[in-house]
Amino acid sequence: MLHLLLLAASLQTAPDTAYFQQGVAYRIEARLDERAQQLDGRLQLHYRNESKRQLDTLWFHLHLNAFRPGSRWAERDQQQSRERFQNLRDPDYAYERVTRIDAAGRRVVPSFPIAPDSTVMAVPLPRPLGPGDTITLALDWQARTSTTPRRQGRRGRHWDFAQWYPRIAVFDRDGWQVQPLLPQGEFYGEFADYDVTLDLAADQVVGATGVPVEGDPGWERAAAVPGTRPMYQREAYTPRPAARLGLLPASPGNGRKHVRWRAVDVHHFAWTTSPDYRYEGGARDEVAIHVLYQPGDTTWDEGVAVSRTADMLAWYDTIFGKFAWPQITNVHRIEGGGTEFPMMMMNGSAGAGLIMHEGGHNYAHGILANNEWREGWLDEGFVSFLTSWSAEARGQRGGWERSLQSIRQLEQAGQAQPVDLPGAEYRNERVYSAMTYTKAELVFRMLRDVMGETDLRAALRRYYQVNRLHHVREEDLLAALEEFHPEGLDWFFHQWLHTTATLDFSLGEIAARQRADGRWDVAIEVKRQGDAWMPVTVQVGSGRYRLTSMDARQWLPLVLPERPAEVVIDPEAVLIESDVTNNRRQL
Ligand SMILES: [Zn+2]
Repeated sequence: MLHLLLLAASLQTAPDTAYFQQGVAYRIEARLDERAQQLDGRLQLHYRNESKRQLDTLWFHLHLNAFRPGSRWAERDQQQSRERFQNLRDPDYAYERVTRIDAAGRRVVPSFPIAPDSTVMAVPLPRPLGPGDTITLALDWQARTSTTPRRQGRRGRHWDFAQWYPRIAVFDRDGWQVQPLLPQGEFYGEFADYDVTLDLAADQVVGATGVPVEGDPGWERAAAVPGTRPMYQREAYTPRPAARLGLLPASPGNGRKHVRWRAVDVHHFAWTTSPDYRYEGGARDEVAIHVLYQPGDTTWDEGVAVSRTADMLAWYDTIFGKFAWPQITNVHRIEGGGTEFPMMMMNGSAGAGLIMHEGGHNYAHGILANNEWREGWLDEGFVSFLTSWSAEARGQRGGWERSLQSIRQLEQAGQAQPVDLPGAEYRNERVYSAMTYTKAELVFRMLRDVMGETDLRAALRRYYQVNRLHHVREEDLLAALEEFHPEGLDWFFHQWLHTTATLDFSLGEIAARQRADGRWDVAIEVKRQGDAWMPVTVQVGSGRYRLTSMDARQWLPLVLPERPAEVVIDPEAVLIESDVTNNRRQL
């Protein structure tokens, strides 16, 4: 890991302290040649430096280059005895090749500082870009997705395009956020305005981040219910004149079509295409819902995926507030599982939990844009929690118990690492996923217990209101939470996110003696081991009591009408405890 850290360190300069966001606009023209299995693209990037520092280099990610031999990703797979991309041959592996870069009208030559991995590209500027300055870059590139899918892919005429264009890296308060794409850890993006024209075979059906402002995405022809009138939202954004970049002809060739998309305030633009897609649509409030699924699938059809997507929007409306964009597209991708993109999710199935999770990322990561490879818990653990909470709110038993058990096992095996580590620093993918998703989900659940549901809901709405369409990090969430919990939550964040401290409450002595008046004097000793601390609920008979002292030994003295039959520590099993066998006693 040392080499990665050194790279990151070399890119850091003194941090700006105040929040800022670089001004970015992409105009893209791209042509998919299915026979040559290649996409040819031209991109014009407007970049405005809103920081207080002078920039002499712009950094880009070419993430498709992870899915080919020689990448850091492939190397990491091998280290962990896995093989996905290292031995893929032409034409199966993915690539992203930049063939020309002009910066402010001058040809520039990029460098690849971590070659042979080419997921990170440095573009030197012909003149330094001072605070407030703008520069325009023009890039030509060629790209292909891989036949072994991983958050992108292709099979026959079905192409899932993500991370498919040279993507400007984020420059934020901590400097350039540059990182090779690895199996552990995902993405971080700069908010931008996208204007994307795709040149495709006329029979292709397309779904994308954004709205189709010109041309036919093919939805009506693909409609599962004939006569469907999709909610295109063509007027969602102010029209822009169709200035062309010159890669595509003014009108599409024979058997081709142009579809032009706009998306504003998104940090990525993903798209998918297959001539076989079936289309179903719907809406919730003003948000259009588009579903594209593979033919013959009876788990997505008849409105199931559409209504689960609408349920997802409804739930997050109650958590955060209004969705930020005019549409959401839910597509049936080649790979199993799911991946989040702004205004879009690519899912391997139409499971309600999966849609709730990936859709939740449109809020946590899409609208509240954290750096996933650095603070994965801030979206993965968060949406895992919100997904389980939505199931619980519908009366289903959350999967909490299973999650608690798996974390307990990992702790007992000595494998636990802090929740807030950068993804690449976990010892393996299992621990990465257990800490980033599972333990973080349980930490959010404990937070709900500490704050109470009403205050947590108010704080999450505040977090969304203050930070929507911004980059976020731990301190932004903490600030919003502490507005509604003025006692402070630093202690909670510190021990549960930054350490591997463990917690174990157990029952000690219990004394019960009947008084002269017939009632019972009951005294219960609650012991605490481990370096972590939490307020804890104790159930005595049918009554519940809260202990909030940090003492290692506490006494709970009670006068009860009857002798209690049972004492239980943490009856709802909210706490991440290393041993729960010592929590319950019959009297
Ligand atoms: Zn996720």
